[in-house]
Amino acid sequence: MARRFPRKLKRVVIKVGSSLLANHLLKPHETSLKSLVSQICDLEDAGLEVVFVSSGAIALGLGQMGARGRPTDTPSLQAAAAVGQALLMRLYGDLFKKRGRVCAQILLTWDDFNTQLRHRNACNTLNVLLDRGVVPIINENDTISTDEIKFGDNDKLSAMVAAMARAHLLIMLSDVDGLYKKEGGKLTEKFSEVHEITDEIKSAAGGARDKNLSKGGMITKLNAVEIASLASVPCIIANGQTPDVIRRIVLGKEPLGTYFF
Ligand code: GLU
Repeated sequence: MARRFPRKLKRVVIKVGSSLLANHLLKPHETSLKSLVSQICDLEDAGLEVVFVSSGAIALGLGQMGARGRPTDTPSLQAAAAVGQALLMRLYGDLFKKRGRVCAQILLTWDDFNTQLRHRNACNTLNVLLDRGVVPIINENDTISTDEIKFGDNDKLSAMVAAMARAHLLIMLSDVDGLYKKEGGKLTEKFSEVHEITDEIKSAAGGARDKNLSKGGMITKLNAVEIASLASVPCIIANGQTPDVIRRIVLGKEPLGTYFF
């Protein structure tokens, strides 16, 4: 069944979770990184504007520092993010360059959304980058902010960015196919479309699956969907491991993931 988006897609925010960017050894997931960049470049080549919200700084930083698991104290996570963010941007920079594209790093905190001047500055930067065909890659500024580290793998950040960018669609990619119905404690059928986040929908959402990689999960994604919906941005939660998932979602010909109106 084909999907109809409320507005013709021009500006799309794509959020990618740590589980797609780092493997179980906390090293870069190279196939996944290459595929993501290639799909984003294809959208750009087709005239779309893509804002890329990428997690993975903490996971990759931990890997770089030889850690075995995810520490529980915030300063250690912040230190890991400082290491991993540099690695992430190096990897993205090289991959985008191979496709003849330039990417940019934007690190944000909650204050940047709550203070008018900061919000305007961030918006202006984003608009100039998009006008010039540069791909903005956004993450939370983990060194000075702790919200996302504690509350989710950039899910909320991606929704705030989608609202700020007045995006036509927010795509949240992780390692799950979408939101599943829960019956008798078991996950059964996938919701293909959700019109309203009811108590049934909320109870179907669980926590993050791999605690080493991130702190996100379906609950934080649903919270993000609620924020995006306040700004009339529809969302799709889908599995980033599905071949060609971004291109196929944007084409709208298949019911991939869960679509939140
Ligand atoms: N900003 C964090 C990162 O890039 C979010 C992921 C997390 O919560 O672990 O790693």
